[in-house]
Amino acid sequence: MTASATGAHQIDRLGAPLFVSWQLTRDCDLACVHCCTESAPGKPMANELSRAEALAFADEIVAAGVPYAMLCGGEPMVVPHFLEVAERLGRGGVQLKIETNGQRFGPAEAVQLAELPVRSVQISLDADDPTTYARQRPGASLEKVHAACRAVRAAGLPLEVTFAPTRVTITELPAALRRARQLGAFRFNTGALMRIGNAARNWRKLVPTAEQYDAFRAVLDREAESGEAGMELAYLPFRMEDGLRQTAAEPPATLLVLPDGRVKASAALPYIVADVRRDGLAQAWRSYCQAWHTSALREAIEAAIADGARHAQANAWQELAESTA
Ligand code: SF4
Repeated sequence: MTASATGAHQIDRLGAPLFVSWQLTRDCDLACVHCCTESAPGKPMANELSRAEALAFADEIVAAGVPYAMLCGGEPMVVPHFLEVAERLGRGGVQLKIETNGQRFGPAEAVQLAELPVRSVQISLDADDPTTYARQRPGASLEKVHAACRAVRAAGLPLEVTFAPTRVTITELPAALRRARQLGAFRFNTGALMRIGNAARNWRKLVPTAEQYDAFRAVLDREAESGEAGMELAYLPFRMEDGLRQTAAEPPATLLVLPDGRVKASAALPYIVADVRRDGLAQAWRSYCQAWHTSALREAIEAAIADGARHAQANAWQELAESTA
């Protein structure tokens, strides 16, 4: 790995990340056709952090003063120690975001989380028609998703939803926007389909046409310009390549932690730059910051921006150092 003489990044001044995005598991109770983590029932990664290791890492996050963490997966609700980890973080003063598919999230879970400093619960809402929803997310119940959203709001928690546009779901956008508003979401997250994991594998079947994307963007732009969306519309940067350009210009103060404790440089890239199980949080953060000064990572980002098909390799993890050996 070659160190470069690029200028300092803002993250170099920080002793810890401002945000930890933590995939508690790759396991999931669904097997969505577009899943970027290639999750499925009974498919945890080998060697995921144990309960004791996860709690110890949560303690490190608290001790380092990290202000904000997201618990995601896979599906975090299938992890037996999910709530313990959330409590350890939340009672330590870390604000939380929870990402869930809503299939096993009810009033009991919402009430428990409402005791903690939860900034938002994000639930997948890619369609308003139950059959369409289940085509993209086989086995999923849209009714359960709506119930989960209502439980979140009834407990006084902020709700955001996410919409993954594929050829299956993209025309459902107007109805999903109406539904999200009706359910009380404060934010609606979307953007172009990410060519990662199952989406990459099923790319030709799933990727919307240029015309479909144009119509999709037009609906979003109209809603945003009208000022009457009733919620924040988060869809920019729209394409992953644009996000990568921003990331390259100013790396985010975010640690992306995989279920086994390894740290990815970026969601779109397969490079591992640290390991919290091996090195602890403080060293992992230093390694992450240093990685952004290497020509290897800059070149990988430039290559990924030039050729979006490379995102298909995003889950073929390799050490950044090995990749350039
Ligand atoms: S997209 Fe989400 S809900 Fe679907 S399989 Fe992947 S992790 Fe599970």
